[in-house]
Amino acid sequence: MSVVEPMNRPNVILITVDSLRPDHLGCYGYGKPTSPNLDAFARRCHVFERAWAAGPNTPTSFPALMASRMPFGTPSFGVLGAPLTLAEMLRGAGYRTQGFNAGNPYVSRFFGYDRGFDQLADFLDYEAGEHVAFRHMEPDAQVGARSDTLADRLRRAILAGTERATRPFPGLQHVAGRLRRLWRTVGRAVRLPYSLQAKVRLERAFWSAVGRWVSEDRKEPFFLWVHAMTVHVPYAPPARCQRAASGRAISRARVGQLARLVALANHGDLEGLGQQDVRDSAALYDAEVRHVDELLGRLFTGLRKRGRRRSVVIVTADHGEQFLEHGRLVHPSFHYNELLRVPLLIHLPGQSEGRRIARQVGLVDLMPTLAEVLGIEPGGCGCVGRSFASLLRGSSDAAAAERLYVAESFYGPNDTVDGVNWQRPCEAGRRVSFQNSRIKLAVDLTSGDCSVFDLRADPGEKSDLAARRPELAQIAQRLACLHVRQSERERASRAVGRRPELNSRRGGA
Ligand SMILES: [Zn+2]
Repeated sequence: MSVVEPMNRPNVILITVDSLRPDHLGCYGYGKPTSPNLDAFARRCHVFERAWAAGPNTPTSFPALMASRMPFGTPSFGVLGAPLTLAEMLRGAGYRTQGFNAGNPYVSRFFGYDRGFDQLADFLDYEAGEHVAFRHMEPDAQVGARSDTLADRLRRAILAGTERATRPFPGLQHVAGRLRRLWRTVGRAVRLPYSLQAKVRLERAFWSAVGRWVSEDRKEPFFLWVHAMTVHVPYAPPARCQRAASGRAISRARVGQLARLVALANHGDLEGLGQQDVRDSAALYDAEVRHVDELLGRLFTGLRKRGRRRSVVIVTADHGEQFLEHGRLVHPSFHYNELLRVPLLIHLPGQSEGRRIARQVGLVDLMPTLAEVLGIEPGGCGCVGRSFASLLRGSSDAAAAERLYVAESFYGPNDTVDGVNWQRPCEAGRRVSFQNSRIKLAVDLTSGDCSVFDLRADPGEKSDLAARRPELAQIAQRLACLHVRQSERERASRAVGRRPELNSRRGGA
């Protein structure tokens, strides 16, 4: 039974904020003023207190979100091999479909995320070739808050000097042209340093484009997907957002220094990282949360001005972020809940009151839930998730609380997705975990290591019970074996999709 009459379908607006932890939002109990707009929005939403991502980073989380598929069960990466994507389902039901991705290559057309979209604006520089999108996250790129690196300035000086010198001699002007081309070729072959300003510029262009699209008249119903990278490393929030979130703003030079330290720590090099650095990085993260909250507030106002109240609006994240809870920063490929727990706010058309829902749900459930809410039959979607539309209708459905939620991840050296060959992801290290409200079982499929956590007694997952409870460790291993076998069957049953051309070696996601 659908919540919405099929002939009267509302717009669907899906906002995914990369790396946004729910416990850093006021509506999830955070003490700092990071999210006034989202808090106000949450008062008219279903607020899911325990929503789980299917993986700890973009490439492992998004197939569940956008196609209700798990990454191990698809023959090629992303949603290339998925039977049906959310956008395809909605377009098939008569929706106009528009996506905006603020430059995350893991949710670009390389991995099939343009499937079903009339247009996906992904803010990637395709001309510059592979690796470009993550240049600004490289450790050696975090050279400070200046927009011009030494290499950039040197390049411009050489080009300008050559152009000046050849100007009086038209016959020699091709020298300047050749030099420019040569420089571009060299630039593609090496990783050029990239500054925090690049993120700031990209963010500005991204949010302007989203705002322009919302302000223009469009045929309805539409499906709008906005994937924001505002909160993702490198943290470069405006000073006003730092002051609003924590009452102080640190210098631009210090912001640049921290970006470099965090990028190194993301790759496993924590030497030189002090407690104050971690505290300051967390403060910058909070300021980025405040920043995205401000931008979302503007987006909500823009939507209201266009009279677009009749919409299903979903705000969520692909995964969380770590601040040394388990010895690391950013979001490596581990399965701790500071990485797997995500915010999930769902506003239904006409909803004026908030409801908090304690029952666990997964992002993998979102696509079948939307199908049911909108009265769409997602024929052949092969959805792995289960609809939780009954919860939106007020059911408590307590029996389902014991369902096991699965998460999967790939990892290269340093336990991040860096170095994973996306053309052959099965050669990478792999982890899988299972959890319900009581227990977490996590297995490293490559090393065979296993962790067991009692989530009721130890919600912070500090005390690994694997050695003390070998029977639970055995169950974990058995579950992992069954899960891998099931995934292999699913993978074998699907045709192989287009292979990604992008093989990003570094950077978070
Ligand atoms: Zn991500």
